[in-house]
Amino acid sequence: MLSVYSRHYPPCPDDINYKRCRCPKWINGILGSDGAFIRRSAKTRSWEKADDFKRKLEEEYEANQQGLEEASRPKPVPVTVKEAVSRFLNSKRNENLADSTLDKLTTIFEKQFLSWATSYRLVHITEIATADLEGFRDTWTDGPLAKKKKQER
Ligand SMILES: [Zn+2]
Repeated sequence: MLSVYSRHYPPCPDDINYKRCRCPKWINGILGSDGAFIRRSAKTRSWEKADDFKRKLEEEYEANQQGLEEASRPKPVPVTVKEAVSRFLNSKRNENLADSTLDKLTTIFEKQFLSWATSYRLVHITEIATADLEGFRDTWTDGPLAKKKKQER
């Protein structure tokens, strides 16, 4: 915390907390909870102006700290369609599914879905909306029952 104090000249009383004079006002203290000790002139003879300046210094410090915090936070990396597909298939492989089921899933996702996404230049999974998926479904040439089962997958 910062505080304002006066640097008095005679005949002023030598009391740093005495506000009602025109002696130069200074600021000292610590910014934040563990900042370095600072001592600087408030460049004013008015206690009120010095107090405003003190508040400004504290606000600038807070804003700066928040900016640093935000900058150090890792940004989420968008998942590519390819990664999402391979993660999905890997998780399916761990489910002890029948080979034929896995083969079907691999065909749908790795071959058909991935090449469909590539043909539409859809790189990241977040770019694919439900409307796009209906477009993907429209490219299927399977019979009605096969289509229904495929959609569930
Ligand atoms: Zn004074």
